[in-house]
Amino acid sequence: MASVLVFTEFANGQLKKSALELLSAARKSGLKVQALALGSGAKGLADALGKEGVDEALLGDDAAFDKYNPELFTEAVTNVLNSKKPAVVLASSSTLGRDLFPRVAARLNTGVTSDCTELEISGSGDVKARRPMYAGKCTAEVAFENSPIKIVLTRPNQLVVTPASAAKTATVEEIKAPVKDLKTIIKEVVKGASNKLDLSEANVIVSGGRGMKEPANFKMLEDLAEVLGATVGASRAVVDAGWVPHSMQVGQTGKTVAPTLYIACGISGAIQHLAGMSGSKVVVAINKDANAPIFQKASYGIVGDVTEVVPLLTQEFKKLLQH
Ligand SMILES: Cc1cc2nc3c(=O)[nH]c(=O)nc-3n(C[C@H](O)[C@H](O)[C@H](O)COP(=O)(O)OP(=O)(O)OC[C@H]3O[C@@H](n4cnc5c(N)ncnc54)[C@H](O)[C@@H]3O)c2cc1C
Repeated sequence: MASVLVFTEFANGQLKKSALELLSAARKSGLKVQALALGSGAKGLADALGKEGVDEALLGDDAAFDKYNPELFTEAVTNVLNSKKPAVVLASSSTLGRDLFPRVAARLNTGVTSDCTELEISGSGDVKARRPMYAGKCTAEVAFENSPIKIVLTRPNQLVVTPASAAKTATVEEIKAPVKDLKTIIKEVVKGASNKLDLSEANVIVSGGRGMKEPANFKMLEDLAEVLGATVGASRAVVDAGWVPHSMQVGQTGKTVAPTLYIACGISGAIQHLAGMSGSKVVVAINKDANAPIFQKASYGIVGDVTEVVPLLTQEFKKLLQH
């Protein structure tokens, strides 16, 4: 039987939300579902994967996979795909996914599409995917030709998570880290100072632009984010000005986000910024210029000075959410 193999990312022993989205899409196809997880603690995922309707769990519980090494991962994933020959591979269009899967596709001489926002897998393993192009000005429908394995990367927070109708007991196969004379050694991975959820996975984002006036005013956004359990993002203008690191940039040359709530503070709404956040479900814009383009994308708009409005919002949300 044809299968869909999901590359499942996890952290602290839990499947990431993006993995649950992909597993939901895989189940919907009616095909056999395989899940591949690499890294220490992968073995502990077997039950959770079974509950998600996975038939076969391919678990590489090996510390060699803890620091992402493109060479090692490419070898390991290519080996698995060569042996399992799934019709479709699903993975998140995360930083890791976008680095790894083009390499794997090149090795397998097969097709890969990234950044998809919609996906349909037929019972025969054919795939139709949609992805925004030209900074969101149009949407492309992608089909595969001459691709023995179709690799589809989807943006986090875009597909619907549905519960599995029945839990399964997934058969478990151990995946070993390939013994290979690696040309690259990852000595250290330095994580960003923030322990908040990464922007691309955040459900609520409070983002600031040049209208915040000065870097110190980002503290107001952090306070609001703290109350809402949100992650702070930024426009390119303030990243270029050195106020905040590039890891916080939303937009065409930053991160693509699709939270339930996006609060844009002092951001004009340039097309390159919209390209990264137009998938947000509800957009709140705060800007002192009533004609700022961001208001055309906003579900709710507040015309006012961010330095006055943001602390008021923080105060009110605190009252509401603490009761
Ligand atoms: C190739 C390319 C790629 C790019 N990629 C990105 C990208 O990934 N992400 C991105 O964001 N941009 C990107 N840009 C830049 C983009 O074109 C804009 O320059 C940028 O988004 C503007 O940032 P901003 O809205 O913070 O600043 P501005 O455009 O300067 O807007 C500031 C806004 O704040 C408002 N404001 C000012 N003071 C206050 C106040 N006190 N209270 C309330 N509102 C106030 C103003 O009315 C204005 O609307 C890219 C550009 C190019 C050419």
